[in-house]
Amino acid sequence: MAQLGGQLGGQPILVLPEGAQRLLGRDAQRTNISVARAVASAIRTTLGPKGMDKMLVDDLGDIVITNDGATILDEMNIEHPAGKMMVEVAKTQDEEVGDGTTTAVVIAGELLKNAEEMLDQKIHPSLIVRGYSMASDKCIEILNKNSIKVSPEDDEKLKQIAKISLTGKGAARGGEKFAEIVVKAVKQVAETRNGKLIIDKDYIKVEKKQGGDVLDTELINGIVIDKERVHSGMPKLVKNAKIGLLDAALEVKETETNAEIRITSPEQLQGFLEQEEKMLKDMVEHIKSTGANVIFCQKGIDDLAQHFLAKEGIFAVRRVKKSDMEKLSKATGAKVITSIKDLSSTDLGEAGRIEEKKIAGENMVFIEDCKEPKAVTILIRGGTEHVVDEAERSIDDAIGVVASTLEDGKVVLGGGCIETELSLELEDYAKTIGGREQLAIMNFAKAIEVIPRTLAESTGMDPIDTLVDLKAKHQQGNKTYGVDVLKAKAADMEKLKVLEPTRIKEQAIASASEVAEMILRIDDIIAASSKGKEGGGMPGGMPGAGGMPGY
Ligand code: ADP
Ligand code: MG
Repeated sequence: MAQLGGQLGGQPILVLPEGAQRLLGRDAQRTNISVARAVASAIRTTLGPKGMDKMLVDDLGDIVITNDGATILDEMNIEHPAGKMMVEVAKTQDEEVGDGTTTAVVIAGELLKNAEEMLDQKIHPSLIVRGYSMASDKCIEILNKNSIKVSPEDDEKLKQIAKISLTGKGAARGGEKFAEIVVKAVKQVAETRNGKLIIDKDYIKVEKKQGGDVLDTELINGIVIDKERVHSGMPKLVKNAKIGLLDAALEVKETETNAEIRITSPEQLQGFLEQEEKMLKDMVEHIKSTGANVIFCQKGIDDLAQHFLAKEGIFAVRRVKKSDMEKLSKATGAKVITSIKDLSSTDLGEAGRIEEKKIAGENMVFIEDCKEPKAVTILIRGGTEHVVDEAERSIDDAIGVVASTLEDGKVVLGGGCIETELSLELEDYAKTIGGREQLAIMNFAKAIEVIPRTLAESTGMDPIDTLVDLKAKHQQGNKTYGVDVLKAKAADMEKLKVLEPTRIKEQAIASASEVAEMILRIDDIIAASSKGKEGGGMPGGMPGAGGMPGY
């Protein structure tokens, strides 16, 4: 079957290696579309506050229970290339906005479903692609037209936006508190550059420790490091800390060349050791002379140096991660120094209090009471590993939405409200286009309706009736109506304050459309022979194969 090209004098010309497999035209499209749709349908039921959770068990028996689209897809280890493209959509969404992953994948699945129907009606894929791309551009326009402005000072609204992102996640009980923590954290690390608010989410450190209750989760105005001080003779608590950050070892360097030192007498050995001791002592004395009373070292600290530091009452931590060093620098204002002798008092940072505390039986170092720190830590607590992990994922999402809202200053109404409006306005737009693209745009509009339909379904409402009702309300001018998922009825989303950053929807629709277009453009799948690999040949010749039992 791996023949490319024609016949030459009755001899088939083989272009592809033996064992390679090939799918052409409609077969290729059908396979890719079914795989992509299977991926979308696998996470569809998790959408919204009443969405279900998935339990994922890996080959080692480790269990993950989650409602987070990106995590589910990641854990499924999908192998089929079209499936992987869908996973990419979720990943991009997660990286760019931090939330809306399920939305993006579900819309992509629906776009492909509708495309399949058009293909069956013999509409050429390029026409569909063109219509989809026009519709996707139009969506950005409609989204912006229907956006509501949010000022960076409006903490109540920001909190509400965080809460909407947190609802329905495993750690919902912490919702109110998490929302407050997330807003504080994001605002704390926000910086104004060229008159624009910029948030680097990397400077919000999320540290988790199993034990306690989710409501014990706290925001630390500084950094928490999962390490302990190197020597028990050091103080456990340092107030008014003057902090040095060292990217250099507090050790006597090993000779770099392979020089051999011959020691011939005991005196010589003694001298050698004394010299080493003196060098370490000098290092510690130099540190002391800068006024530092706390040292975070990215590399090692020699036993003897530890002893000298302890004697001087200096608090020291070794082998701190590079990423933590950067955060410490942001939080305390200290500069990371690469050579100990270069450390000077101006390089030191400050913190009101540094303390080693026991959290759930393990020592952690808290660098707290920093002045206007540009890096903070959220310390997540919770009864079990699953709770802590899911809390981390939902807090990550919430950080993403609050950061996007602060940066862009605009939100739309959720609960399927904006999607209903998008669908209606796209239908109007389609009518102005005419031709066959019109049909593709109409189908794009229908695809977006999957969001209100799925939300209605998740609460037990009739999806079709709900959609008809919502569309009628919007057409009568009630453009703020969506699905009240908690009360299972259509309601005013503005009143219920179901707000989501505009960027979530922009990104979700753009990447859903992109992946659908990309899949539609493929009319030839050539798979190299995979000798020795189980199964071999065409990956997932059966839709949904490859790590997805049951689909
Ligand atoms: P995603 O991964 O796409 O963010 P979620 O499971 O977080 O998926 O669900 C998001 C959807 O749920 C959005 O369409 C959002 O508007 C909707 N939603 C969230 N909270 C509510 C609410 N209280 N009422 C109605 N819809 C809500
Ligand atoms: Mg979400």
